[in-house]
Order: sequence, then structure tokens, then C-alpha cells
Amino acid sequence: MGYLMTASDYLIIGSGIAGLSLALKISDNYAVTIVTKDRLPESNSAYAQGGIASVWSPDDSFTSHIQDTLVAGAGLCHPDVVETMVREGPDRIRELIALGTNFSRRSEGEETEYDLGLEGGHSYRRILHAADATGQEIIRALIAAVQQRPNVTILEKHVGIDLLVTGHAARRECWGAYVLDQETNTVKTLAARVTVLCTGGAGMVYLYTSNPDVATGDGIAMAYRAGVPIANMEFFQFHPTCLFHPQAKSFLISEALRGEGAILKRPDGQPFMSQYDPRAELAPRDVVARAIDTEMKQNGFSHVLLDIRRREADYLRRRFPAISQRCLEFGIDLTTDPIPVVPAAHYLCGGVVVDLHGATSIPRLYAAGEVAMTGLHGANRLASNSLLEAVVFAQRVFLHAQALLKGDTSGCPTFPTWNPSHAVRSNERVVVTHTWEEIRRLMWDYVGVLRTDRRLASARRGIALIQKEIRDYYWKFLVTTDLLELRNLATVAELIIRCASQRKESRGSHATADYPDTDDTEWRRDTVVGATVRDCPIRR
Ligand SMILES: Cc1cc2nc3c(=O)[nH]c(=O)nc-3n(C[C@H](O)[C@H](O)[C@H](O)COP(=O)(O)OP(=O)(O)OC[C@H]3O[C@@H](n4cnc5c(N)ncnc54)[C@H](O)[C@@H]3O)c2cc1C
Repeated sequence: MGYLMTASDYLIIGSGIAGLSLALKISDNYAVTIVTKDRLPESNSAYAQGGIASVWSPDDSFTSHIQDTLVAGAGLCHPDVVETMVREGPDRIRELIALGTNFSRRSEGEETEYDLGLEGGHSYRRILHAADATGQEIIRALIAAVQQRPNVTILEKHVGIDLLVTGHAARRECWGAYVLDQETNTVKTLAARVTVLCTGGAGMVYLYTSNPDVATGDGIAMAYRAGVPIANMEFFQFHPTCLFHPQAKSFLISEALRGEGAILKRPDGQPFMSQYDPRAELAPRDVVARAIDTEMKQNGFSHVLLDIRRREADYLRRRFPAISQRCLEFGIDLTTDPIPVVPAAHYLCGGVVVDLHGATSIPRLYAAGEVAMTGLHGANRLASNSLLEAVVFAQRVFLHAQALLKGDTSGCPTFPTWNPSHAVRSNERVVVTHTWEEIRRLMWDYVGVLRTDRRLASARRGIALIQKEIRDYYWKFLVTTDLLELRNLATVAELIIRCASQRKESRGSHATADYPDTDDTEWRRDTVVGATVRDCPIRR
């Protein structure tokens, strides 16, 4: 291993919608480094299908979007955060449009207007989308813009390992991160006056997930190791409908299909959703995911069916081109066949605790996007609110950090270079692969859609043993991306189990058979782990 130390004003870890939109706001007077662990476009953002929610039509209102978000959040949303996001949303959408994002339009006589989609939990059509590949289009526009910026250095195939933190207690400050360059296998010390975690979610902690491989919760684990409070990790939202096919890796069938009339059916063709909720297919996603999980577990089905054959074939091909095409690749024509689907881990509502400016409990360290727990989603995310949250909080981080850096003459302190000690290159890669699968299976079986105390206790014991093994391995061998991700996944698993074990009730996306009711007297609060609540910037 060799060593390198470089400094910038901003270090942004992650190149999804949060990281890229933040980078674009920073003026050319400041040096920005973006590190991203795969190629630039690879992120959850790029896979977003349904769209981005915002009050856009004159029939809609902020009050309605706020209300829908609060209802989905099941009593745990922080109302000030919800109001801020909803009110600032339209301006952020206008910025995306100004950057060249092409949202889908529909013709209204001579005029064309943005085509607003409807999704479960929304009272109005307010989802701006680019057909059914919204994330890909937004990321395309953001990357094109970021690549024009002379002050932004992009380091692909670079993995953030740990944060550089100085001082103790209230005097701590974050000054960048150790980063592994996967191509040269060197660990670099990337110092920065402001560090922003934009590392996204952690779907890979579960066996079935809609998330791409990069979603291993690295930012949450890094912040946790640095002593930042982490909250609400029990609220992992399961997407009700991922394509069920042996060769289809994590392909999501958008909720917009249910918004456009698709019906969920048992394999024998019987619809079932109205037996679970009066809103049937338009019930919030956790209700739908649990209904499907119950149908599968009670009846031994390997999957259920999503049937949209009632809509016209031409319309379906136009409205859902990517989904139609992908299904066809697996021999399923959605205009003539029902689609086999299963639930899968999709979105993490919890994460690194931040305040209304995206600031963590450690000065100079921020978090934005799915990695952060802003208080917006509460116990459950309203569909298509996450892309909006990421752009709104990227702006808020920018404003706060800009004020911090104005007149700040501090230079970055010097940090010791990464010390591999006596570590050697591993010839036991199988241990990493095996343990990785063990964690994902354990989390799926014991900490999945429906939980029990007994299963959580088993999971906790299992993860503790796995973590011990990982610790031994970590210090013996030189770090690789797989090993770093494995360590982070185990930490995220531990945090989910700890939060889920604390919450003795069912609420939003956390459901336990032992406490099926919601307990507002005891549990209308966040589950904070990893630091004392005194250190936590959000207190309610
Ligand atoms: C299939 C799918 C469909 C979705 N559909 C919608 C939708 O329609 N509407 C909606 O609002 N939301 C949707 N979501 C959720 C939404 O896409 C995400 O919440 C959002 O994109 C998160 O953006 P982000 O910038 O926080 O993180 P991401 O887009 O996930 O980006 C994280 C970045 O961090 C990088 N990274 C991670 N760890 C490290 C590390 N250690 N070092 C360096 N880089 C690192 C990753 O490589 C990636 O570049 C969907 C998600 C999925 C998976």
C-alpha cells in the first residue's frame, strides 16, 4: 500500500442525487472532491422509476402533500421537516428542470403540461416522472452538469472507509475521510473542511432487495463508528413488488402500476388486497408488502401476481417502456401476462441523525439523502418523497456549510497516514462471501417484513458472533471493498436489530407479531442508538 494526502474544501462521499446536486451548488471558489465507490452513475438514484413528488398542479396544495406525508409516517414525522420539504420542493424541481431534466409531458390541446403520476398514499397527482426511468434521467442531467464544473474532482472506484475526526466530546470536528482507491489498492487520506455523507441506503443487508450492490449502508456505519447518533433503523420499507424470476436481480415493478389500475392476485387469479385494507391496491406500501408476505407465508406461495392487463396495450408500452422491456426479456408480456412479484427490502427511513440543515452532531460533518434521518419519513416513507428529500436537503446542507466556510480560515489538521500494521493480502476471500450471505439470509428470515421478539433475539446473537469473526479478519488482512462492505453491513444489521428490539409496538414499516398494536403513549418517539440523546441534534 502507498499513501497520499490531499485536501479540498468539500469532500462529498457518494454520487447519487444528493451528492451530485450538492456539488453543483458549490461555487467555483471552492474545491470539491466527490468520491464514489463504483462508476459515477451507479446508485439507488439511477434506478428510481416512479418519480419525484412535489406540489405542481393548481388543484393540489402544500397542506395536502404535508398531510399525506404525515399519514404515511404514522405519527413519527417531524412536522417542521415535512413542512420545509414540501414548501421548498417546487423550487428544487424547477432547478432540476433548468439543468435539463426532461420530465414526461402530456398534450392538452395545443398545450403540453408535465404528466403528473399518482402513487399509493398520495391524494393528488403530484409525481413528476420521466416515463418509468426517472432516476436515470435526473442522474444523466446532473452528471452532464457536474462534468462541466472545473472545481469538482470526481474519484470513481474510491470507497470511503472511516471519517477523520479530531477532539473529544463537544469539541470534535470532522476533517475528511480515509478512502480506498480500488484500482491502485492504496488508502488515501482525503482531508476536507466540510465532509458530506451522501452514501445512500442499505438494501444489501437483506437477501431480497430492489437496491443495487453499492447500497451497503457505509455512511451509516462510518458515522456510527465516529460516535454520531443513528435513529429509526427498524423502519426498513419493503417494496411490495419486485419481479420474481430466477435470473432477474433486484428488478422493481413500480408502484405506479398499481396507481394506474394493476390488481394484485393469488396465483389462481383471485384478488386479495381488499381483504387487508379498504384502499386495496392504493394502500401504503408497507400495508401492501405485509399483505403479500402474509399471503405467501400462509399459503406457501413462492410469489403473487400483479395484473395490469385491463389497461390498453399501447398505453402500457408508452407509460412503462423500461418495465415492459425488462419483463419481455424474461418472457413476460405485461399486456397479456400477469407479472410474478415478491416483496423486497427497498428504502431505509432511519439513518444518521441530522438537523434541519443536514448537520450531524459532529461539526463539519453533514449527511443528505437516504443515509440521513432528517425526521421527514417518520415510521414510513410516502412514495416518491425520497428523491425530493435528497434535493431539498442538498440545498440546505449547502447553505449551512457555505455560511460555515465564509470567513473560516482554518486549515485541515494533519492526520496520520493509514497504517495497515502487519496486515497481509487475504487468501480467504470465501470467508467474506460466505459471511456476507449469512448476514443477508439471517436478516431476511429473522428481521424481515414481520418480526417477533424471539427471532430478534436470535438475530442479535447471530450478528454478534459474525461481528466477532469480522473483527478478527479485518485486522489480519489488507482492506478490500468486499471486506469494508461486509463490516458495514454487519454494523447496519446490528443497528436495525437493536432499534427493532427496542420498539415494543407495530408502527409504519415496523411490524411485530408480539406487539401488533401501535402504542402512542410509550412509543411516539424516535429510536436513537449509538450516542446519548443529549448529543442528538433532534429532540422532541
Ligand atoms: C429500484 C428503486 C426505485 C426507486 N424509486 C423511487 C422513486 O420513484 N421515487 C423516489 O423518490 N425514490 C425512489 N427510490 C429511492 C431513491 O432512489 C433513493 O432514496 C435516492 O435515490 C437516494 O439518493 P442518495 O443520493 O441518497 O443515494 P444513492 O442514489 O444511493 O447514492 C449513493 C452513492 O453513494 C455511493 N457510495 C456508497 N457508499 C460509499 C462509500 N463507502 N464510498 C464512496 N461512495 C459510496 C454509491 O456508490 C452511490 O454513488 C427508489 C429506489 C430504488 C432502489
